[in-house]
Amino acid sequence: MKILSVVGARPNFMKIAPIMRALDSYGDRVQQTLVHTGQHFDEKMSDVFFRELELPKPHEHLGVSGGSHAAQTARIMLEFEPVILKHRPDWLVVVGDVNSTVACSLVASKIGVPIAHVEAGLRSRDNTMPEEINRKITDAISDLLLTPSPDGDANLIAEGVSPDRIHCVGNVMIDSLIRALPKIEQSEILTTLGLTAGEFVLATLHRPSNVDDPAMLAELIAALNEVSQTLPIVFPVHPRTRARLETENITVADAINMVDPLGYFDFMSLMKSANVVMTDSGGVQEETTYLGVTCLTVRPNTERPITIDEGTNRLVEPGKDTLLAAWKEVEAHPPARRCPKLWDGKAAERIAKRLLG
Ligand code: UDP
Repeated sequence: MKILSVVGARPNFMKIAPIMRALDSYGDRVQQTLVHTGQHFDEKMSDVFFRELELPKPHEHLGVSGGSHAAQTARIMLEFEPVILKHRPDWLVVVGDVNSTVACSLVASKIGVPIAHVEAGLRSRDNTMPEEINRKITDAISDLLLTPSPDGDANLIAEGVSPDRIHCVGNVMIDSLIRALPKIEQSEILTTLGLTAGEFVLATLHRPSNVDDPAMLAELIAALNEVSQTLPIVFPVHPRTRARLETENITVADAINMVDPLGYFDFMSLMKSANVVMTDSGGVQEETTYLGVTCLTVRPNTERPITIDEGTNRLVEPGKDTLLAAWKEVEAHPPARRCPKLWDGKAAERIAKRLLG
């Protein structure tokens, strides 16, 4: 069987790595092709993850980065069509909700290649998030909808998807995390940054709604500046956010250590030892839930409600006062956690079994 998997942006790498490894264990029965669209392409947003997650070198690189959403999606489609026609896979595997996910799915659906969507069924019910559009379209044209948690199944069923296309397989992000734990333990990032476990905050911000609006970005940084008077903050800055901070000339306190985006082992080591994580990331909500670390998600909604219902995640309406109030609340009452079912390191094995059916 020929299986073609697509990666494009940072959150894809930790999802595809365990799936390719699980498929590899079937030996000659599976021929795998990896396509990198190039959405994220440099050392810090892409190459380091190939090394640390032991992903194979992509067989095809489409070299598409930058541009508006429409331009990027269209260029990925144009570059991907001849590639999929050349390989003619039995399955296209796409993960998550980035532009590469929807662009490659659209191409495959038009030429009749079956699509398996990993992380299907997640919904924020917020169409102002570009990712929500990508999720809904990809799910609508996928043949196999592989969900990380039962809320995904419920969303798809409510949208009229036939239950025989939906399979709850668990969370592949957590597969990568569990496998990497020994390496994460070996990271020396806390020493390098002069931090003490349990006595710092890890912050990440990159959603357009938080960083593209200068007034909102200034408010969120003002809140972080205030938090940093109590606990030092490590802030691995996404390229998009760094660009905004520079053009808007926003003042960041000295106790906030703005570092470049980190490799997976170092980043997860910081997360594991953080007192609190403040973020607007999707994946970070899941990783903190698995690790039992308190997470404040600075967004009005989440497509991952299980991280609140069962995990350590709390939503915070974006703003300075709301973030400071939420921080005080979780400091006083840290959320408890149950680990969601099937977040057990074996999601990729279940996916491979389904694909080989
Ligand atoms: N991550 C990392 N280094 C960083 C920031 C993030 O290794 O400096 C990892 C982490 O595992 C996170 C994943 O990249 O869950 C996805 O990150 P991002 O927040 O960019 O994407 P999202 O999940 O919001 O789509």
